[in-house]
Amino acid sequence: MTLLDKVEENIRGGYYKSAEKLLKKENSDSLRKYYLFALICYMKNDLDKAYKLLLKIYFNSNEFTQSEITLRREVIDLLEKVTKVIDKGTYNAIISKSDENPEGDLDIIRTIYFGGIKYDLSMSEIVNLRKIRLSENLKTGITIFGNNYFIQFYKNYSSFTPLLNLKRKTSLGGGYFLNLDNYGLIIDPGHDFLNNFYSAGRSFEDINGIIVTHFHDDHYADLPSLLALIYQRGKNKIKSYKKYDLFFDIETYEKFQDLFLKKSIYDRTVKLSSKKAKAISIKDGISLIPLKTKHITTIKNSGVGILINIEKKSTQVIITGDSGWHYRIGENYKKNLIKESGWKRILVAHISTLHNEEAISHVYNKSWFYGAHLGLHGLLKCIECVNPTTVILSEIGEELAPVIYKIARLIESKYNINCEVGMNSFKFIID
Ligand SMILES: [Zn+2]
Repeated sequence: MTLLDKVEENIRGGYYKSAEKLLKKENSDSLRKYYLFALICYMKNDLDKAYKLLLKIYFNSNEFTQSEITLRREVIDLLEKVTKVIDKGTYNAIISKSDENPEGDLDIIRTIYFGGIKYDLSMSEIVNLRKIRLSENLKTGITIFGNNYFIQFYKNYSSFTPLLNLKRKTSLGGGYFLNLDNYGLIIDPGHDFLNNFYSAGRSFEDINGIIVTHFHDDHYADLPSLLALIYQRGKNKIKSYKKYDLFFDIETYEKFQDLFLKKSIYDRTVKLSSKKAKAISIKDGISLIPLKTKHITTIKNSGVGILINIEKKSTQVIITGDSGWHYRIGENYKKNLIKESGWKRILVAHISTLHNEEAISHVYNKSWFYGAHLGLHGLLKCIECVNPTTVILSEIGEELAPVIYKIARLIESKYNINCEVGMNSFKFIID
C-alpha cells in the first residue's frame, strides 16, 4: 500500500486531519496527490480551495496517462459536486476575476469547458487534442545530422509575380536549405518556402540561421512567418534554448529590423554587403562571403550573392543570387575563389529566362546580357569564370520548363561538368 493509498483510506474513514498530515509527507508531484488534497478540502467544506485545486488538475489533463483515466473521472465527479454547491459569486470570481461577468457568459464558458465531461471529452478537451494533432507535423525534431553537407532546393519555377498567376499552382516556391555539419541555413525563404520545407519532412528544429540576399518578395515572402516562429520559440523557451543567426542584405535588414523583436533570441544579426566583404565565420571551418550582384530592387541595389567555404570538404558553394552578368562580377568572384588544387566548386546560378537579343548580339559583334538575371549568355560567362565541378540551374522561369533539362545536358557536354536542375526539393550532397 502506497502512502497515497493510506491517505485515501483515511479520507474514506473520515480522518481528514491524519490524512492531511500523511499527505504532506508525500514527495511526488503526482496529479493524484493534488486530487486527494482537493478531496480533503471538499470534505472539510473548504469549497473555494477544492475548486481551485480541481481546476488546476483538470487543466493539466493533457498529462493524464492511460492509467490515470480513472483519476480523471474522479476529478470530474468531484468538480461537478463542487460546482453544484459552490456559490455563484465565488465561481464567478475564480473563473473571470471580474464581477461584471454576466451569467450568460458563465453558462457558455461552463458548457464549453466542463459540459459533457463525465464520460466523453469536453469541447475544450476536443479542441486541445486537435491542437496537438495539428501541430504534430511541426514537431518532427531535428532531421539533419553532423558530418553531413547538402544543399536542397525548396523552389519550383521562379515566381516574382506569383499573385498574378491565379491558375498556376506549380510555380510557387523559393529558397534553399543548407546542412553544414548540423548547422541548418536557410537562404531566401520566398513564397511557399515553409510549406515546401515542411512537406519535404524538414522541421523548424533544423534551422540555425537565415540569409536573405535581397529585398524582393520572392526571396523574403516567408521571412515574417519565420521571424514570428523564432520569436514564439524564444519567448516560450521551447526545448533547448538555441539562438539564431540572421544575415540580411542592407535593405532587407533595414526593412525588417523592427521584427527582430527580442534581441536575445539572436546570436547575430548581420548586415551583408559585398563592399570590402570579409569572411564571416558560420562555424568551425565554414565561412560566408557576400558576393557582388547587379540587380535593382525597390530603391537601391544592396543585394548580394553568397559564397560558402567548407574547409572539411575542400568545397566552395557559390550562389549567384539574382544578378545580371557584368565583368566586374567576374572580378569579384575570382578574388574570392580558392585556386588550390583539390578544391571543388558548386555553382548555383540564377538564370530566370531567355531573351532573343542574346542570340542577335553575336551577329552584331556586341555582347548583350539580360540586365536583371544571368539569362543564358550570363550563365555561360559565369560558368567560364567560376569553372565549377557542378553547376545547379536555379531561379528558372516557368517558360523554360520544356527545355531546361536539355539546356542542362548541353552544358554538361560542352563544359564537361555536372549540371543539375535545382527544383522540387532537389538535394545535392556535398561530399
Ligand atoms: Zn530579385
